[in-house]
Amino acid sequence: MADAASQGARVVLLGPPGAGKGTQGKVLCERLGVPSISTGDMLREAVTEGSELGNKVQGIMASGALVDDATMADVVRDRLAKPDARRGFLLDGYPRTLPQAETLAGILRDAGQDLDAVLLVDVPEDELVRRTLLRGREDDQETVIRERLRVYREKTAPLIGYYSERGLLREIDGNRPVEEVTARMFDLFGVGAAEAAGATEAD
Ligand code: AMP
Repeated sequence: MADAASQGARVVLLGPPGAGKGTQGKVLCERLGVPSISTGDMLREAVTEGSELGNKVQGIMASGALVDDATMADVVRDRLAKPDARRGFLLDGYPRTLPQAETLAGILRDAGQDLDAVLLVDVPEDELVRRTLLRGREDDQETVIRERLRVYREKTAPLIGYYSERGLLREIDGNRPVEEVTARMFDLFGVGAAEAAGATEAD
């Protein structure tokens, strides 16, 4: 990963909702010069636009459940096919299930590409609930947050073992001040800390 900043990189950000993936992802992708691709942001945009996809996922998102793997496969395949993702990408919020991880592996294989790293940002559960309530988005009521965490443990946490077995997992303690998490992350990617300032949100 020593030349990550000059060569681009293909990175997955993994971690529970509220761990700061969004904040850290935006800083890291700027530093690496690759687009940050957040499936949550894409779905929220679809809901705002009132598109067919948006109408399909609105209720599912509001409940804290996951959108089905086939729908997500279409969303991600289309997005990764765009020219800006050719040099690399930082995926935030995908994959979230083992079948999604297999779908991503297939998309990359077809393109003759590989993942460079999966970055796990982890934070204790009580801290996650506190942070997410502070954020105050519409899908952030406490029952929904708890449901999102339950779904994370059940469906997404198995990806930690999956990527660990493949030698891709890098772990970061997200329960530290934002700048420290950023510095540690830059360390892992062998890039300087020049753009570390300016990250303040929880996710
Ligand atoms: P996020 O902003 O990443 O927490 O995503 C917000 C919501 O969008 C999630 O709670 C899911 O309902 C949906 N979502 C986002 N990404 C995925 C995905 N990869 N698989 C299934 N549902 C997703």
